[in-house]
Amino acid sequence: MTTAVTAPESASGGALTGDAINLPNATGLHARPAAMLVALAKKYQSTIRLMRGAEEANAKSVVSIMALGTQHGDSLRVKATGADAAEAIRALTALLTQGCGEQHEAPAPSVLPDPVAAPAEPRTAAVSVANALVGVCASPGVAVGPIVQYRQDVIVIAETGESPERERSKLDAALLLAHAQIEALKARLGDPAGAKILDAHQELLQDPDLVEAAITGVRQSQSAGHAWRAAFGQVSDRLERLEGAHNALLRERAADIRDVGRRVLVLLAGAKQAQIDLPQGAILIAEELTPSDTAALDRSKLLGFCTTTGGATSHVAILARSFGIPALCGVDPAALALAQGTLVVLDGAQGLLHHEPTAADLALAHERVVLQTARREQEKVLAHDAAGTTDGLRIEVVANVRNAQEAREAVALGGEGVGLLRSEFLFDDRDTAPDEDEQAAAYLAVAFALGPQRTLVIRTLDVGGDKPLPYLPLPKEDNPFLGLRGVRVSLDQPQMFRTQLRAILRTAGKARLHIMFPMIATLEELREAKALLAEEAAATGHTDFKVGIMIEVPSAALMAEHFAREADFFSIGTNDLTQYTLAMDRGHPRLAKKADGLHPSVLKMIAFTCEGAARHGKWVGVCGAMASDAMAVPVLIGLGARELSVSVPAIPAIKALVRRLSLADCQVLAQEVLQLGTATQVHARLAEFTQ
Ligand code: PEP
Ligand code: MG
Repeated sequence: MTTAVTAPESASGGALTGDAINLPNATGLHARPAAMLVALAKKYQSTIRLMRGAEEANAKSVVSIMALGTQHGDSLRVKATGADAAEAIRALTALLTQGCGEQHEAPAPSVLPDPVAAPAEPRTAAVSVANALVGVCASPGVAVGPIVQYRQDVIVIAETGESPERERSKLDAALLLAHAQIEALKARLGDPAGAKILDAHQELLQDPDLVEAAITGVRQSQSAGHAWRAAFGQVSDRLERLEGAHNALLRERAADIRDVGRRVLVLLAGAKQAQIDLPQGAILIAEELTPSDTAALDRSKLLGFCTTTGGATSHVAILARSFGIPALCGVDPAALALAQGTLVVLDGAQGLLHHEPTAADLALAHERVVLQTARREQEKVLAHDAAGTTDGLRIEVVANVRNAQEAREAVALGGEGVGLLRSEFLFDDRDTAPDEDEQAAAYLAVAFALGPQRTLVIRTLDVGGDKPLPYLPLPKEDNPFLGLRGVRVSLDQPQMFRTQLRAILRTAGKARLHIMFPMIATLEELREAKALLAEEAAATGHTDFKVGIMIEVPSAALMAEHFAREADFFSIGTNDLTQYTLAMDRGHPRLAKKADGLHPSVLKMIAFTCEGAARHGKWVGVCGAMASDAMAVPVLIGLGARELSVSVPAIPAIKALVRRLSLADCQVLAQEVLQLGTATQVHARLAEFTQ
């Protein structure tokens, strides 16, 4: 393209001014074109100003250019003072005429992707219904209510710091580190449009106006964090207050600055966990919720939640199911831009978040909530009776719990025992590991909640991967899900493992104790774990227990027949089994819709497991999310599962479902779906079956 560059037309007081150009950019000089202009300006030694009438901005500062609030068609000139002024004016005027890299692009998206978030689904692909944002069902059900946006942005910072020199070096280090973080993020993103936005964010980190404002604060004895927060807060507030046709866009630019600002602030302060305060009847929207965030939520106030990260088998989804409230994971990130208090209909089963529903939508949703409540009440009536198929096969419906309180809730809802006590919740969210007495007290409380006749399956510590422990720093691994995880951590830390085993053994006889090892991949691991258990059992004199393993690694499923000779029972962890069979991270937002336990490959693993167990007369349960999924239950029973360990609120519904099934039909169905080629075909067949 040819560039309308004219020689500088005037010189006054040493300054040269270029020709006027009409800004071609549809949405003015927002972060990306401004960053491009700044990058070029910085190549020149001259002082360079961008002029719009009497207003002007530092052409080497993105924030200064953005604060000019330029719009399409604005008449702009470049003014420069210095040795290379004429050259700078020529080059910058040419770049402005060309649209600063934006000439042929569509206008900027209405909401910029958040660079802090993991890569998310493209927004256009995700929206399929008007006012509906699509996600993955983490927990079924319908809820109607106002949203509460949750951000982890409560960062506590001291106002004054050490010496100005010390604070200055902290600031410099944080800016450098933030730059490196964004660089790494760009590499992970692998998307040129996203990378351009991140370039602009990196440019902001070096913005002379912004950095100078922070340095001024530091010189006045403020801490680096305080000065930095004040500097970026001032700039973002200024942008937000600018009048003009592009207010929404300017607000986004302000959001960009806050994003970058927060990244540096977190580095300066160390992230502080925000307390999530919920009003009554809220639907929470967050980019991410850690298991401890979720566990700390006030369930009595929460109607449902959505996160833009995570998938159906992520731990946050498991917690949602344990709450018995609808939840979506991997939801369209546009959800983060909804205003606080926006009324939404959250449809867990459909994986949809409807915002600003019409009166008719609302009436329908309220009707569904009423029906849902009525059906749940009805299911509870028979929840305490044993569940069996119409042709007489008994299916034990037990619960996945984390503590005695949940075990009591399970019993109250008709749970026949505990099929999975996730013992890691006792180890989580604290500074040191619990000792034997503390652990024993917690396990005994669960055992007493059940009594001697009910099954209690205690899973030994399952940490690593997506479940780190603060006091057990595991080595940095390229693939933590394939590294020290589950029983591997226990075998690596035998003293901690033995302590846990002794504590667990103290519950023998108080409930029907089953000890289960997670993430077993090889027979050697099982033998090693069993040997330690045998030593502790001999030392403590406890013998009244069974030993089983989770089947959640393909090697264990494929070798089930061998494992069945040496284990008393199997419990299939479909969450990890799906992740490892399909090689899809269980928390990856882009893979969430594909990481499907109903994929025929996963069903084949389950079939293998059941066949291996049957050869040695061992029982198989399922404790992964599939056991709580009404669509999956007929197949699981048809394949040979005889125990379903489900989220506590799902107990009555799963029992009611079992009573409607016949084993013979389930077996035919299972054989049929094993022959199919895709998860979509399996879903279609199961939808027909459950109709
Ligand atoms: C599973 O992997 O299915 C399982 C039940 O274990 P967790 O979800 O705790 O990893
Ligand atoms: Mg698992």
